[in-house]
Amino acid sequence: MATITNHMPTEELQALDAAHHFHPFSTQTELKERGVRVITSANGVWLKDSEGQDILDAMAGLWCVNVGYGREELVEAAARQMRELPYYNTFFMTTHTPVIALSAKLAELAPGDLNHVMYSSSGSEANDTNLRLVRTYWAEKGKPEKQVIISRWNAYHGSSVGSGSLGGMKGMHAQGGLPIPGIHHIDQPDWWNEGGDLSPEDFGLERAQQLEKAILELGEDKVAAFIAEPIQGAGGVIVPPATYWPEIQRICDKYEILLIADEVICGFGRTGNWFGSETVGIRPDIMTIAKGLSSGYQPIGGSILSDEVAAVVGATEFNHGYTYSGHPVAAAVALENLRILEEEKIVDTLREDTGPYLKARFEELADHPMVGEAKIVGAMGSIALTPDKASRAAFKAPGGTVGYMVRERCFANNLVMRHVGDRMIISPPLTITKAEIDLLIERARLSLDEAMEKVKAEGLFESA
Ligand SMILES: *Cc1c(COP(=O)(O)O)cnc(C)c1O
Repeated sequence: MATITNHMPTEELQALDAAHHFHPFSTQTELKERGVRVITSANGVWLKDSEGQDILDAMAGLWCVNVGYGREELVEAAARQMRELPYYNTFFMTTHTPVIALSAKLAELAPGDLNHVMYSSSGSEANDTNLRLVRTYWAEKGKPEKQVIISRWNAYHGSSVGSGSLGGMKGMHAQGGLPIPGIHHIDQPDWWNEGGDLSPEDFGLERAQQLEKAILELGEDKVAAFIAEPIQGAGGVIVPPATYWPEIQRICDKYEILLIADEVICGFGRTGNWFGSETVGIRPDIMTIAKGLSSGYQPIGGSILSDEVAAVVGATEFNHGYTYSGHPVAAAVALENLRILEEEKIVDTLREDTGPYLKARFEELADHPMVGEAKIVGAMGSIALTPDKASRAAFKAPGGTVGYMVRERCFANNLVMRHVGDRMIISPPLTITKAEIDLLIERARLSLDEAMEKVKAEGLFESA
């Protein structure tokens, strides 16, 4: 077989990909028909494809390339570590300096007494760890009945059997026998779609109080933990009403339910603070981390545990771990990534300078005739598409039809902006400049205009 390189014609690469590569979260037959885009290199917020196009990546890959593409320091950190010690495990009374340094750094950055890190290679694995961890915690505390974990519909916590069950994606539950027992879902704080006639504030309280209702129904003595993303990402960047999180914290405190903040997207600056928990004002017992931890340059995730959780579970042998838990190369790259975020004041710049600019420009999109609301926190934002802003109506087409049409125009206009149903979402590298923000908004508006013409031509610009 000939060596496959970026110099091959796109069609050949596409044909080989279609023949042998089975893509995640995709309909393979559809991909084969359309031909996938081949990404060849990247720098800053820019991707380059095999046709030589420069594409503005307003998703930072999959919400993860926080420091942007092309950082030589991260390449160097990986190479240095691979030469010195490419692998060793941390199971059998051994450790190594990259994992020691990363753990100490994370303990310093994480709020409160979140001081202990158990590693994985992904967010899914970290949430699987959390599932066993919280149940073990209560068993060790002499309350083995406390097993149920409460989560939310339309939450995303990963794709493995455990984390997919914790998540609330009905399309995922429908395949492969999820969710596993012992997980209970309550409704999400999505005011735009589900708020009805309630004010956002009242709706936020109502949705938070569903947690209390669930605890009382299931039995206080049966519930181990509540897990949630401070701001839902994959569910469509759902920014909860301001009343939501304080009420959730109150309920967790009152019933002594462990709070797991899934910070896989919100962590490492995404919301303008180091962690989303700080942005929404909560005190989690456990944080799930991944994605921005290494800016996606290496696969690494983990669970940051409070002193209390670590002490309780630490008193027994916790029979859990992955071959690559605390992988030295991934740890070295993550540590260097945190150094870049900190020393270049990337989180502060986002919070104080580029973030407010992005917010102002992004919210301008709300005046587009097909956009109902624009919501953004730090560098994660979404717009709701609608044929009628006042009634927050859905289109006269299956959910996601119009979102897909907008995404197609974004794709054609060299802007990566994802759609979740009929919401368009962005999550660019935190290093995005004001000039790039202007370009992002310009391309988004052009794509909305072009899509709206098509939506109207097809008679879909009507309320359902
Ligand atoms: C992406 C994501 C996960 C899963 O992480 P993987 O690394 O893809 O396994 C978990 N939680 C949240 C909030 C995520 O966005």
